[in-house]
Amino acid sequence: MLTIKNPRELTSILNRDRDQGKRIGFVPTMGYLHEGHLSLIRSARKENGIVVVSIFVNPIQFGPYEDFKRYPRNLKMDQRLLKQARVDYLFAPSTNSIYPKGFRGFIDPGPLARYLCGPKRPGHFRGVATVVNRLFRIIQPDRAYFGAKDYQQAKIIEDMIRKFRLPIQMKICPIVREKNGLAISSRNQYLSKKERIRARSIYRSLTEARKQIRLGEQRAERIKKIIRQILLNYVDKVDYIEIVNPKTCAPIEQVKSSALLAVACYLGSTRLIDNLLVKR
Ligand code: AMP
Repeated sequence: MLTIKNPRELTSILNRDRDQGKRIGFVPTMGYLHEGHLSLIRSARKENGIVVVSIFVNPIQFGPYEDFKRYPRNLKMDQRLLKQARVDYLFAPSTNSIYPKGFRGFIDPGPLARYLCGPKRPGHFRGVATVVNRLFRIIQPDRAYFGAKDYQQAKIIEDMIRKFRLPIQMKICPIVREKNGLAISSRNQYLSKKERIRARSIYRSLTEARKQIRLGEQRAERIKKIIRQILLNYVDKVDYIEIVNPKTCAPIEQVKSSALLAVACYLGSTRLIDNLLVKR
Protein backbone atom coordinates (compact mmCIF):
# COMPACT_ATOMS: atom_id res chain seq x y z
CA MET A 1 0.00 0.00 0.00
CA LEU A 2 1.24 3.46 -0.92
CA THR A 3 0.60 6.40 1.40
CA ILE A 4 0.27 9.57 -0.64
CA LYS A 5 0.02 13.09 0.74
CA ASN A 6 0.18 15.16 -2.41
CA PRO A 7 -3.13 15.52 -4.33
CA ARG A 8 -1.44 16.00 -7.73
CA GLU A 9 0.68 12.90 -7.25
CA LEU A 10 -2.42 10.83 -6.42
CA THR A 11 -4.36 12.19 -9.40
CA SER A 12 -1.55 11.28 -11.79
CA ILE A 13 -1.07 7.77 -10.35
CA LEU A 14 -4.82 7.14 -10.60
CA ASN A 15 -4.90 8.44 -14.19
CA ARG A 16 -2.40 5.74 -15.06
CA ASP A 17 -4.51 3.06 -13.32
CA ARG A 18 -7.61 4.32 -15.11
CA ASP A 19 -5.79 4.17 -18.46
CA GLN A 20 -5.17 0.49 -17.74
CA GLY A 21 -8.93 0.00 -17.48
CA LYS A 22 -9.09 -0.28 -13.70
CA ARG A 23 -12.14 0.89 -11.77
CA ILE A 24 -11.53 3.05 -8.75
CA GLY A 25 -13.41 2.59 -5.48
CA PHE A 26 -13.08 5.34 -2.89
CA VAL A 27 -13.77 5.32 0.86
CA PRO A 28 -13.46 8.73 2.58
CA THR A 29 -12.79 8.63 6.33
CA MET A 30 -11.47 10.69 9.22
CA GLY A 31 -9.30 7.78 10.36
CA TYR A 32 -9.08 5.96 13.68
CA LEU A 33 -10.42 3.07 11.67
CA HIS A 34 -12.83 0.49 13.01
CA GLU A 35 -15.04 -2.34 11.79
CA GLY A 36 -17.54 0.17 10.32
CA HIS A 37 -14.90 1.66 8.03
CA LEU A 38 -13.53 -1.79 7.24
CA SER A 39 -16.93 -3.00 6.04
CA LEU A 40 -16.98 -0.17 3.47
CA ILE A 41 -13.42 -1.01 2.44
CA ARG A 42 -14.31 -4.68 2.01
CA SER A 43 -17.20 -3.74 -0.31
CA ALA A 44 -14.89 -1.45 -2.28
CA ARG A 45 -12.26 -4.19 -2.50
CA LYS A 46 -14.79 -6.64 -3.95
CA GLU A 47 -16.11 -4.26 -6.58
CA ASN A 48 -13.06 -2.38 -7.87
CA GLY A 49 -9.58 -2.96 -9.30
CA ILE A 50 -8.18 -0.10 -7.22
CA VAL A 51 -9.20 0.95 -3.71
CA VAL A 52 -8.38 4.41 -2.34
CA VAL A 53 -9.04 5.32 1.30
CA SER A 54 -8.62 8.88 2.49
CA ILE A 55 -7.88 9.92 6.04
CA PHE A 56 -8.49 13.59 6.66
CA VAL A 57 -9.91 15.13 9.80
CA ASN A 58 -11.70 17.95 8.05
CA PRO A 59 -11.45 21.11 10.19
CA ILE A 60 -14.28 22.97 8.43
CA GLN A 61 -16.94 20.41 9.36
CA PHE A 62 -16.38 20.92 13.09
CA GLY A 63 -18.07 23.75 14.98
CA PRO A 64 -16.01 26.06 17.24
CA TYR A 65 -17.01 24.14 20.38
CA GLU A 66 -16.76 20.66 18.86
CA ASP A 67 -14.06 18.03 19.14
CA PHE A 68 -11.72 18.79 16.20
CA LYS A 69 -8.62 19.09 18.39
CA ARG A 70 -9.25 15.99 20.46
CA TYR A 71 -10.65 13.83 17.62
CA PRO A 72 -8.77 10.49 17.90
CA ARG A 73 -5.91 10.00 15.44
CA ASN A 74 -3.53 7.06 14.95
CA LEU A 75 -2.03 6.92 11.47
CA LYS A 76 0.30 3.99 12.19
CA MET A 77 -2.52 1.76 13.41
CA ASP A 78 -4.69 2.84 10.46
CA GLN A 79 -1.93 2.03 7.97
CA ARG A 80 -1.64 -1.46 9.44
CA LEU A 81 -5.37 -2.08 9.09
CA LEU A 82 -5.48 -0.70 5.55
CA LYS A 83 -2.58 -2.87 4.47
CA GLN A 84 -4.33 -5.95 5.88
CA ALA A 85 -7.47 -4.95 3.98
CA ARG A 86 -5.40 -4.82 0.75
CA VAL A 87 -6.04 -1.15 0.09
CA ASP A 88 -3.96 0.21 -2.80
CA TYR A 89 -3.60 3.85 -1.81
CA LEU A 90 -4.02 5.74 1.42
CA PHE A 91 -4.53 9.42 0.74
CA ALA A 92 -3.52 11.41 3.82
CA PRO A 93 -3.35 15.04 2.71
CA SER A 94 -2.35 18.07 4.76
CA THR A 95 -4.97 20.73 5.52
CA ASN A 96 -3.10 23.18 3.27
CA SER A 97 -3.24 20.91 0.26
CA ILE A 98 -7.00 20.46 0.62
CA TYR A 99 -7.65 24.13 1.41
CA PRO A 100 -4.89 26.15 -0.25
CA LYS A 101 -4.70 29.86 0.58
CA GLY A 102 -7.65 31.67 -0.93
CA PHE A 103 -9.73 28.47 -1.31
CA ARG A 104 -13.22 29.39 -2.42
CA GLY A 105 -14.79 26.11 -3.53
CA PHE A 106 -17.34 25.84 -0.72
CA ILE A 107 -20.36 23.69 -1.56
CA ASP A 108 -23.93 24.37 -0.48
CA PRO A 109 -25.24 21.09 0.96
CA GLY A 110 -28.76 21.83 -0.31
CA PRO A 111 -32.20 21.24 1.22
CA LEU A 112 -31.39 17.91 2.93
CA ALA A 113 -29.22 19.84 5.37
CA ARG A 114 -32.23 21.70 6.77
CA TYR A 115 -33.16 18.80 9.03
CA LEU A 116 -31.74 16.49 11.71
CA CYS A 117 -28.09 17.36 12.39
CA GLY A 118 -28.20 20.38 10.02
CA PRO A 119 -29.64 22.98 12.41
CA LYS A 120 -27.88 21.36 15.40
CA ARG A 121 -24.44 21.66 13.79
CA PRO A 122 -24.43 24.86 11.71
CA GLY A 123 -21.91 24.67 8.87
CA HIS A 124 -21.25 20.96 9.39
CA PHE A 125 -22.75 19.68 6.15
CA ARG A 126 -21.31 22.57 4.16
CA GLY A 127 -17.93 21.39 5.43
CA VAL A 128 -18.71 17.77 4.56
CA ALA A 129 -20.00 18.55 1.05
CA THR A 130 -16.99 20.80 0.41
CA VAL A 131 -14.37 18.26 1.44
CA VAL A 132 -16.04 15.35 -0.33
CA ASN A 133 -16.36 17.39 -3.51
CA ARG A 134 -12.66 18.32 -3.27
CA LEU A 135 -11.72 14.65 -2.71
CA PHE A 136 -13.93 13.54 -5.61
CA ARG A 137 -12.18 16.03 -7.94
CA ILE A 138 -8.76 14.72 -6.90
CA ILE A 139 -9.62 11.00 -7.03
CA GLN A 140 -12.37 10.86 -9.66
CA PRO A 141 -13.63 7.51 -8.38
CA ASP A 142 -16.04 5.24 -10.24
CA ARG A 143 -17.69 4.26 -6.95
CA ALA A 144 -17.78 5.96 -3.56
CA TYR A 145 -18.65 4.16 -0.31
CA PHE A 146 -20.45 5.77 2.61
CA GLY A 147 -22.02 4.34 5.77
CA ALA A 148 -25.72 4.50 6.66
CA LYS A 149 -24.45 5.38 10.15
CA ASP A 150 -24.25 8.94 8.80
CA TYR A 151 -27.44 8.59 6.79
CA GLN A 152 -28.08 12.29 6.23
CA GLN A 153 -24.48 12.84 5.13
CA ALA A 154 -24.79 10.03 2.58
CA LYS A 155 -28.03 11.49 1.19
CA ILE A 156 -26.43 14.95 0.91
CA ILE A 157 -23.49 13.50 -1.04
CA GLU A 158 -25.86 11.48 -3.23
CA ASP A 159 -27.70 14.73 -3.96
CA MET A 160 -24.45 16.55 -4.73
CA ILE A 161 -23.41 13.81 -7.18
CA ARG A 162 -26.75 14.21 -8.92
CA LYS A 163 -26.65 18.01 -8.93
CA PHE A 164 -23.12 18.20 -10.39
CA ARG A 165 -23.74 15.20 -12.65
CA LEU A 166 -20.59 13.51 -11.36
CA PRO A 167 -19.97 10.10 -12.97
CA ILE A 168 -19.75 8.41 -9.58
CA GLN A 169 -21.84 5.52 -8.31
CA MET A 170 -22.89 6.07 -4.72
CA LYS A 171 -22.84 3.04 -2.41
CA ILE A 172 -24.51 3.32 0.98
CA CYS A 173 -23.45 0.44 3.25
CA PRO A 174 -25.32 -0.84 6.34
CA ILE A 175 -24.49 0.26 9.89
CA VAL A 176 -22.04 -2.02 11.66
CA ARG A 177 -22.92 -2.50 15.33
CA GLU A 178 -21.38 -4.11 18.36
CA LYS A 179 -23.10 -7.32 19.48
CA ASN A 180 -25.08 -5.30 22.02
CA GLY A 181 -26.40 -2.99 19.28
CA LEU A 182 -24.24 0.09 19.82
CA ALA A 183 -23.33 1.58 16.43
CA ILE A 184 -19.54 1.51 16.08
CA SER A 185 -18.00 4.98 15.93
CA SER A 186 -14.58 6.55 16.41
CA ARG A 187 -16.27 8.74 19.05
CA ASN A 188 -17.16 5.69 21.19
CA GLN A 189 -13.52 6.00 22.22
CA TYR A 190 -14.51 8.97 24.41
CA LEU A 191 -17.02 6.93 26.45
CA SER A 192 -16.26 5.64 29.94
CA LYS A 193 -17.14 2.01 30.67
CA LYS A 194 -20.40 3.02 32.29
CA GLU A 195 -21.33 5.43 29.51
CA ARG A 196 -20.69 2.71 26.95
CA ILE A 197 -23.19 0.46 28.70
CA ARG A 198 -25.74 3.26 28.94
CA ALA A 199 -25.21 3.98 25.23
CA ARG A 200 -26.74 0.61 24.34
CA SER A 201 -30.11 2.17 25.11
CA ILE A 202 -29.89 4.18 21.86
CA TYR A 203 -30.28 1.16 19.60
CA ARG A 204 -32.72 -0.42 22.04
CA SER A 205 -34.96 2.66 21.86
CA LEU A 206 -34.93 2.51 18.06
CA THR A 207 -35.76 -1.19 17.89
CA GLU A 208 -38.54 -0.77 20.44
CA ALA A 209 -40.01 1.99 18.26
CA ARG A 210 -39.73 -0.25 15.21
CA LYS A 211 -41.59 -2.97 17.08
CA GLN A 212 -44.45 -0.60 17.87
CA ILE A 213 -44.57 0.56 14.23
CA ARG A 214 -44.80 -3.05 13.13
CA LEU A 215 -47.62 -3.56 15.63
CA GLY A 216 -49.48 -0.74 13.89
CA GLU A 217 -48.41 2.54 15.47
CA GLN A 218 -48.23 5.25 12.78
CA ARG A 219 -48.21 8.52 14.73
CA ALA A 220 -44.76 10.08 14.76
CA GLU A 221 -45.42 11.86 18.08
CA ARG A 222 -46.22 8.53 19.76
CA ILE A 223 -43.18 6.85 18.23
CA LYS A 224 -40.91 9.68 19.38
CA LYS A 225 -42.36 9.36 22.86
CA ILE A 226 -41.47 5.66 22.99
CA ILE A 227 -37.88 6.49 22.05
CA ARG A 228 -37.68 9.43 24.48
CA GLN A 229 -38.98 7.40 27.42
CA ILE A 230 -36.22 4.85 27.02
CA LEU A 231 -33.44 7.35 26.28
CA LEU A 232 -34.23 9.66 29.18
CA ASN A 233 -33.37 6.87 31.60
CA TYR A 234 -29.91 6.34 30.19
CA VAL A 235 -28.46 9.30 28.30
CA ASP A 236 -27.46 12.69 29.69
CA LYS A 237 -29.13 14.84 27.06
CA VAL A 238 -31.31 14.19 24.03
CA ASP A 239 -30.27 16.44 21.13
CA TYR A 240 -33.09 15.31 18.87
CA ILE A 241 -35.44 12.44 18.16
CA GLU A 242 -36.94 12.65 14.67
CA ILE A 243 -39.11 10.52 12.43
CA VAL A 244 -38.35 11.59 8.87
CA ASN A 245 -38.95 10.82 5.24
CA PRO A 246 -35.91 8.73 4.18
CA LYS A 247 -35.69 10.53 0.83
CA THR A 248 -35.85 14.15 2.01
CA CYS A 249 -34.94 13.86 5.72
CA ALA A 250 -37.96 16.11 6.44
CA PRO A 251 -40.08 15.22 9.50
CA ILE A 252 -43.29 13.27 8.90
CA GLU A 253 -46.37 13.04 11.09
CA GLN A 254 -47.50 9.58 10.06
CA VAL A 255 -45.45 6.52 9.18
CA LYS A 256 -46.99 5.18 5.99
CA SER A 257 -44.67 3.05 3.88
CA SER A 258 -41.25 3.85 5.32
CA ALA A 259 -39.54 6.12 7.80
CA LEU A 260 -36.12 6.87 9.18
CA LEU A 261 -35.97 6.94 12.97
CA ALA A 262 -33.05 9.18 13.89
CA VAL A 263 -31.54 10.08 17.23
CA ALA A 264 -28.74 12.30 18.49
CA CYS A 265 -27.86 12.40 22.18
CA TYR A 266 -25.10 13.07 24.64
CA LEU A 267 -23.38 10.79 27.10
CA GLY A 268 -21.29 13.17 29.16
CA SER A 269 -19.86 15.50 26.54
CA THR A 270 -19.86 12.83 23.79
CA ARG A 271 -22.47 13.32 21.10
CA LEU A 272 -23.63 10.09 19.46
CA ILE A 273 -26.00 9.59 16.52
CA ASP A 274 -27.86 6.53 15.33
CA ASN A 275 -30.74 5.68 13.03
CA LEU A 276 -32.97 2.88 11.85
CA LEU A 277 -34.75 2.64 8.52
CA VAL A 278 -38.19 1.10 9.02
CA LYS A 279 -40.41 -0.26 6.28
CA ARG A 280 -43.99 -1.24 6.98
P1 AMP B 1 -15.87 8.84 9.69
O1 AMP B 1 -14.43 8.43 9.74
O2 AMP B 1 -16.56 8.76 11.00
O3 AMP B 1 -16.06 10.16 8.97
O4 AMP B 1 -16.61 7.76 8.78
C1 AMP B 1 -16.19 7.46 7.48
C2 AMP B 1 -17.24 6.64 6.80
O5 AMP B 1 -17.46 5.43 7.54
C3 AMP B 1 -18.60 7.35 6.72
O6 AMP B 1 -19.19 7.09 5.45
C4 AMP B 1 -19.37 6.71 7.84
O7 AMP B 1 -20.76 6.71 7.64
C5 AMP B 1 -18.84 5.29 7.80
N1 AMP B 1 -19.07 4.63 9.09
C6 AMP B 1 -18.68 5.07 10.31
N2 AMP B 1 -19.13 4.22 11.28
C7 AMP B 1 -19.82 3.25 10.64
C8 AMP B 1 -20.54 2.10 11.07
N3 AMP B 1 -20.64 1.77 12.35
N4 AMP B 1 -21.15 1.33 10.14
C9 AMP B 1 -21.07 1.65 8.81
N5 AMP B 1 -20.40 2.72 8.35
C10 AMP B 1 -19.78 3.52 9.24
